[in-house]
Amino acid sequence: MNNPLAFLISKTRSVMKCCALLSLYLSISVVAQAQPVDAPADQRANPAVLAHQNTLVPGLKRIGNRVYGAEFMGYSNFGFIEGDTGIIVVDAGWFPAPTANAVALLREHTTKPIIAVIYTHLHMDHYGGIQSILSEQGRDIPVYGPANWQATVAMIENVTQKATFRRAFMQMGIPLPEGLDGTVGNGIGPSPRLEASDALSYPPTIEVSEAMSLTIDGVALDIFPAEGDVPEHLWVWLPDDEVLFVGDAPPHGVFPAVETARFEMGRDPNKMMASVQKAIDLNPQAIIPGHSRILDQQADIRELMSLTRDTIQFLIDQVDRFYLSNRSVDDLLNTIELPPAVANHPQLQPYYHRWEWMMQQRFVKRSGFIDDWMDYLSHNAYDEAARLVPALGGRDTVIELATTNVTSDPQWAARLATYLLLTNPDDTEARQVRQQASIRFAQVTTSTNQRNYLLGLVAEESGDIDFDRMLRGPISVSLAKLDDAALLARLRSRLIAEKADDVDMTIRLTLDDSQAYDLQIINNILRVSWPDKERPITAAWTTSRETIIAVLTNQLSLAQALSNNRIVSNGSPLTSRRFASLFE
Ligand SMILES: [Zn+2]
Repeated sequence: MNNPLAFLISKTRSVMKCCALLSLYLSISVVAQAQPVDAPADQRANPAVLAHQNTLVPGLKRIGNRVYGAEFMGYSNFGFIEGDTGIIVVDAGWFPAPTANAVALLREHTTKPIIAVIYTHLHMDHYGGIQSILSEQGRDIPVYGPANWQATVAMIENVTQKATFRRAFMQMGIPLPEGLDGTVGNGIGPSPRLEASDALSYPPTIEVSEAMSLTIDGVALDIFPAEGDVPEHLWVWLPDDEVLFVGDAPPHGVFPAVETARFEMGRDPNKMMASVQKAIDLNPQAIIPGHSRILDQQADIRELMSLTRDTIQFLIDQVDRFYLSNRSVDDLLNTIELPPAVANHPQLQPYYHRWEWMMQQRFVKRSGFIDDWMDYLSHNAYDEAARLVPALGGRDTVIELATTNVTSDPQWAARLATYLLLTNPDDTEARQVRQQASIRFAQVTTSTNQRNYLLGLVAEESGDIDFDRMLRGPISVSLAKLDDAALLARLRSRLIAEKADDVDMTIRLTLDDSQAYDLQIINNILRVSWPDKERPITAAWTTSRETIIAVLTNQLSLAQALSNNRIVSNGSPLTSRRFASLFE
């Protein structure tokens, strides 16, 4: 690039309403887990986190002559490349509104039409907003993307959809209000705000599974695999401009999530480390990441990428060291801290995930969860609580200990209160203390994810968040795509096995007056099969797919569906009700 980088930052809204109150607080004071805290009692969010979030100013940033990066305009970044006659879009944010806002800012500079789209990877936070572009544009433009669209959709819509979405929403603070009593962002950007979208309607039309060089509208582009958060992941490199779009391989500005406590079992730190090295080798003028700030200084890029690469290797090597010497994950967490060069670097703080979670997940992936005396001898938490509470002096002593620790050691206070709840779930005082301590811990932690999770748990427990209602729409859409047998099979994971000892019952169920299936409870499982004429049946049911979807989305139970005749039963009402009562 010949010109120095020009910035066109259009501030669309303040990330933090309270920012005027904050002095810029860049000295790093990471609150390690399980340490007493000395923050002021009225602190509502960690000041280092707030100061960091305050630097994440949303806007459209111009890089060189023809690249624009939409930075912090939504949960994830994306960008535009101006060609001779049109615009190439790289990624599209999670929800339509931030993407539409970015396009509106782009329109202050050019009216050229959008002529191509490239997805770096198929996480919904990087393509979910595309409808705001393609619904107007028409769908006849090429959409380049990784080759595993069907697998991605299948993964989203599988049996765990609700739990996966719930965890993601909790982590990112989606159900929480923005501000000091809710989410203060994600460390890597603002918390996403939920919008309806039909993200799955815009799959890639050109699948890229190996490196390709092409020219689109006069712009030379290299699109090539570079593994990051997911194995199927692409980078977009502009060799003439020396600008690199890296998606989630990896983000930076916080310590990157090389492992996650959530559900990314495919994530591989070795592959991510190789991608970081590739970024160093390309020596770009600018990197536009999927999250965190755009890097537009080569010295900055080299420093951050080198430190990131070395820290990923540190994680890999030290986990292996402890595993190889039969030392436990707790020993690891108790011994290993981030290298000082990272621990003291303002751009690599663990404002997103906790570093401890990454080490723990890496360790579990390497070695499972059996590793030392405590694991071979483990009680489950209920057994442990039943022994610990008396050993600590009984319920009243423990609640007093918990209460006095809420401010100074909230993590311990919340755990003490949890031991009480494990011995008696009706202990409302313990529940209140746990909520207070969890809120306090959320107010002091440096991890925005940990804050979001804890505040989310409190809100969920208080009935302020209802994931059934929030997720019913997308889950109903997914269920509607299943064939009858697959739809009925979703009842399997709702069988209350502990109530089904020695049960052998079969319902012959006819769906929408067409095909019949046998639903047999036997050996504490539900088997869904074609009707077996030899098998004695308990009752015959007739119902609709709509009713089964309503049951699977917790709008009513099977028992309620029976009593209000959405399921018509032919047979003994008593045994029909007994069968229905064995499902959540
Ligand atoms: Zn992402």
